[in-house]
Amino acid sequence: MSMRDVVRRNRPRVWSSSRRSLMERCPRAWALRYGHRRGKSGTAGRMLSIVSDWRSPWDLMLRSLRSLIIERLEACLIGIRWSDSDIEMKMRERLKEMIDEQNESLNLVEKRIGSNSELRANQERAKIDDLVAVASHRFRRLMLMEPLHSIIRGKITDWELVGRLNSVRHQGKDLYIAPDLIWRIGRDRFMLRFVMQGRREMTEHNRMEHSSMIAWQNSDLSDEEKKISKVVVEIIDWHRGRWHRTSFQPTEGEVELAMTMIEHDLVAMDELYQRLGPLTDLSMMPLASSKAVCRGCGHVDSCPGGENLERAKIEQSVIEMARCRTS
Ligand code: SF4
Repeated sequence: MSMRDVVRRNRPRVWSSSRRSLMERCPRAWALRYGHRRGKSGTAGRMLSIVSDWRSPWDLMLRSLRSLIIERLEACLIGIRWSDSDIEMKMRERLKEMIDEQNESLNLVEKRIGSNSELRANQERAKIDDLVAVASHRFRRLMLMEPLHSIIRGKITDWELVGRLNSVRHQGKDLYIAPDLIWRIGRDRFMLRFVMQGRREMTEHNRMEHSSMIAWQNSDLSDEEKKISKVVVEIIDWHRGRWHRTSFQPTEGEVELAMTMIEHDLVAMDELYQRLGPLTDLSMMPLASSKAVCRGCGHVDSCPGGENLERAKIEQSVIEMARCRTS
């Protein structure tokens, strides 16, 4: 296959809020993660995927929490007995499983770099007991909230889990904009997304991002249904030490704006990809927005930003100026 074909084949064609968020936090980490065909290009490509998929222990805790919330709802849906009393044990098992998997990846990374990885120190500093306590507390608080409380007690019967892996095809791109859960009361439809770690206030951008759920459901409804049913977007997110529930009904204009934002993101992703070029030139790829981003990044051992972000940014601008002068 020619270089041009490879470049065309690998062009980014997927939008999800996690891709968008990574692109905002560190374009270089985004390029390393999504600027190639994942897991399909030999040992080096697989290693790149392993390192790019690295998650800090805190992120693993959030991921375990999310998976147990979904599992709890699935158990309710298919009538499996569930007890919240052993949630700590379930959480610990889930978290340990994820950490063990990462340890295997770490061994591979260390074998490759020939020394101890920064990531190992990061992982070993984490106190599993504390993470389990945080996640279990959040889980219990969430189960007392509506609509989960009513769903689990059978007061809301018309509901289903959707799953974020459910994408919508839009102009040749896959958009991951589905809610986690939907339920209906009369003609009203409610679409809920869980955000394991939110911000203090919902920004305009976040609101737009969540409004895109309406575009997901529009692909599922007839024109007649769209006219008669009211659709409410619901977000449950954790910030300031508790879960917050926000509901709103996006206007048509807001949904259009949300889709335009997604299109702009896809253009920005494509520009980054083009900047990377066929030889995967990372030298001019913008670095992280803050040191905190590097602390949770799998490339911290090999990236100049991981060693000293400020210095790496200065060096990058010097190279850029030199290139401008000679071009
Ligand atoms: S170490 Fe920092 S600058 Fe380098 S890719 Fe990771 S987040 Fe970006």
